[in-house]
Amino acid sequence: MRKSKAWWVGVVLGGVAIACVPILLVDYTLNAYVERNARNKLELVAHSALGLAEIRLEGAMAALVDLSAVVEGCDQRSMEIMRRTATVSIPIKEIAVLDDSGDTLCTNFGDGGEPRAISRELPLADTRFELALVRFRDRNDRALRLRLDRRNTKPLGALIPADFLVPDTVGGDFQDGRSLRLALDSEIVAARPVGDEGLSVDHMRTLGVVLKSERFPISVVVERPRATLGEEYRDVLTLGRLCSALITILSFAIGALYFRRNRNDPLVQFREAIKNGEIVPFFQPTIDIKTGKLVGAEVLARWRRPDGTMVSPANFIPLAERSGLIYPMTQALMRRTVLEVGDAHVDRPHLNVAFNLYAGHFANDSIIQEIQSIFGSSKIRLNQIVLEVTEREPLPNLDLARDIIGRLQKLGIRVAIDDVGTGHGGLSYLMKLGVDAIKIDKLFIDAINTERYSQTIIETLLELARTMKMEVIAEGVESFDQVEYLQRKGVNQAQGYVFAPALPASSYIALIEATDTSAPSAEPKAAAAA
Ligand code: C2E
Ligand code: CA
Ligand code: CA
Repeated sequence: MRKSKAWWVGVVLGGVAIACVPILLVDYTLNAYVERNARNKLELVAHSALGLAEIRLEGAMAALVDLSAVVEGCDQRSMEIMRRTATVSIPIKEIAVLDDSGDTLCTNFGDGGEPRAISRELPLADTRFELALVRFRDRNDRALRLRLDRRNTKPLGALIPADFLVPDTVGGDFQDGRSLRLALDSEIVAARPVGDEGLSVDHMRTLGVVLKSERFPISVVVERPRATLGEEYRDVLTLGRLCSALITILSFAIGALYFRRNRNDPLVQFREAIKNGEIVPFFQPTIDIKTGKLVGAEVLARWRRPDGTMVSPANFIPLAERSGLIYPMTQALMRRTVLEVGDAHVDRPHLNVAFNLYAGHFANDSIIQEIQSIFGSSKIRLNQIVLEVTEREPLPNLDLARDIIGRLQKLGIRVAIDDVGTGHGGLSYLMKLGVDAIKIDKLFIDAINTERYSQTIIETLLELARTMKMEVIAEGVESFDQVEYLQRKGVNQAQGYVFAPALPASSYIALIEATDTSAPSAEPKAAAAA
């Protein structure tokens, strides 16, 4: 079938769209992989940073608990102990005795310490402790203050500088744009690189991980700009995209090959032809040679290609039979016959229409159901139908065939053996199948008046037909001599170029109508001329 420009544009656009699918799919998968991998690394950093901060806080808590047993107030001895502890305990920079409102009474340095602002204190799971953020007024530095409440005496406080909680080294060198922040509740304690960026993560712009401590009201945020991922994973992305391009090119090549192969595959072409209604019925009239009247027609398949060329059945029937497409083809022909010549048959019950069946049609009885569904309520009645079973191909199962033929006959359908004398059937077909008619092949008709042997065969067949009460139809009758001979021998019906070739539906209908009005003569060429 010739495809339109729009069809090709559609195919190209469709192809491009299809090509985009694997590319997008691979890209999506790659990005997902890169993101997962990068996120895992960020989680690792977040876990180690949070773990370190927790260890520092726990160390400070333990130190305060130890101190609480020995520090009584701001006396000399207590101050000395506080000084010693501050020196040996890594995270603690300052130890203080606090008043009940949390203000510093004295520290290990003696006085009340540097000016500072202390945030709202947050309780810990261990209810003796509270944690607050300390901002120093004179420098841009922060610390956490751990407060231990004691029974009957003043609370103790320990100051843990941000640098001890989040060392500069944590999480590597931050060269890939990565940043890390430690927060107490929602307030930033320390940021690496330095700079107060708040807690929230802009997921569009950055890939971020927020990890909350289960033991302390602190959390860690680690993030990196998405833009830096491409740089780090360049090799993976390049390789992946290369693969996807290769897959796409390969799929296209395979697709094109498949498409080409399919386009040139006769089977594919023939299947399409059936689907597109390119297999059409032609009608070869059958004439009653005694009266010259039209008896009906045999449906002969033609493949009418879109460019108007006609393909004869010899070029596609063998393929149809081999591939099994003969079944849908026969059905299509039957339906189309109803459409094209149904009207001409409604009021002419004497007109028959014959279809050629394939031996495989008798391998099971589904043909009965098919014919009933096509013709059951159509303008062509079942008793107008003749089915031709060729003798050329052996029937798969003679008993089953006989049964099917019997059931078809009960519906009023007549069955004829086609190409009699040429094939496998021989006399056994005529004896066993119980058909209504035989069609004597052109081979024997051609030999009339030239070969005695063929005439003997014809006479034998006619004798047999008479005995078995079968109608005889002569095929491929091409000359008046042959018609005369057949008339003399008592043959009633004939088909052949001497009357008419297979005609398109319109010509056949014109012939039907012409023979309706004018009283047809027995003169053979009259039909063909109509
Ligand atoms: P067939 O069933 O024996 O059909 C008779 C063939 O002889 C037809 O050829 C017809 O056009 C041709 N013919 C008829 N009168 C004359 C004549 O006087 N002289 C000559 N030389 N030829 C004549 P066609 O249409 O080419 O069909 C060939 C064969 O293809 C058919 O032989 C039949 O076996 C098969 N065929 C055609 N249509 C169908 C179909 O719908 N189903 C099946 N299963 N086979 C079909
Ligand atoms: Ca036939
Ligand atoms: Ca035949």
